[in-house]
Amino acid sequence: MSETIISMQGITKSYGKHQVLHDVNLDIQKGDIFGLIGRNGAGKTTLFKVILGLSDYKGKLTIAGSGNLSAGRRKIGFLVGSNFFGSMTARENLEYYRVMKGLKEKREIDLVLKIVGLDKAKGPYSRFSMGMKQRLGIANAMLGGPEILILDEPTNGLDPQGIADVRALIQRLNEEFGMTVIVSSHILGELQNTAHKFGIINEGTLARVITQEDLISQQRAVRLRVDDVDRAKAALAAAGVQVLDEVTEQRSLEDFYFSLVGGKGGNAQ
Ligand code: ADP
Repeated sequence: MSETIISMQGITKSYGKHQVLHDVNLDIQKGDIFGLIGRNGAGKTTLFKVILGLSDYKGKLTIAGSGNLSAGRRKIGFLVGSNFFGSMTARENLEYYRVMKGLKEKREIDLVLKIVGLDKAKGPYSRFSMGMKQRLGIANAMLGGPEILILDEPTNGLDPQGIADVRALIQRLNEEFGMTVIVSSHILGELQNTAHKFGIINEGTLARVITQEDLISQQRAVRLRVDDVDRAKAALAAAGVQVLDEVTEQRSLEDFYFSLVGGKGGNAQ
């Protein structure tokens, strides 16, 4: 039985007269990698801020099975923007946050730096590549051994190698350390093979939640290579035309997204 770790019912959020989340109902299951997909401005960060207690809202939120949100939120590590000191090393920055978070174990820093592959990183943060900066952000989110990780656009601004590294890291944290990961992106293809479930958010409305299996099983198309498509279609059943070549394609998350929210292109912006 899957266990719901975060439950949202009727979550609504407005900035003044501007309503940015409309009646969001969403359950996230323990052990999942959940991808939140939507254009810039769709409401992803706002939804994360609601979960983290950084933004007020209307509606019902439950974390880790309890209405005690403070206790639930202590089980969450997050990367929402980043705030590191440019003149300090990876280790020094994490040491600062370790003390801020009241964590006693100094060794934790070595552990998280190793996991994200920054244990040998030298020099100040300001000289880090974008990929290193994002990985340090993930390391920081992991301090304190949270059960749930919230990563807001962790691949933003990364090159393909950096994106692949972050994806692999997310999978490892999920598989090896059993973390539930909630990760957002405005680039559609990016999470397709990483997340188990996808929530599609559009203009503050959660348009749909779809699983990786749904995407594979429901969205299949069979391409038949024949000389005349119209005649072949009519003739197939009646005349028993032999299919010479058959290609089964999985509909991409991108196709699915645009069929739901309209528009086209390589990302959801
Ligand atoms: P996303 O993370 O999907 O890019 P956001 O949650 O950051 O989207 O923003 C959703 C909407 O809320 C946008 O229209 C944005 O302009 C608005 N918004 C976000 N933060 C604030 C704020 N502090 N004050 C007013 N409007 C805001």
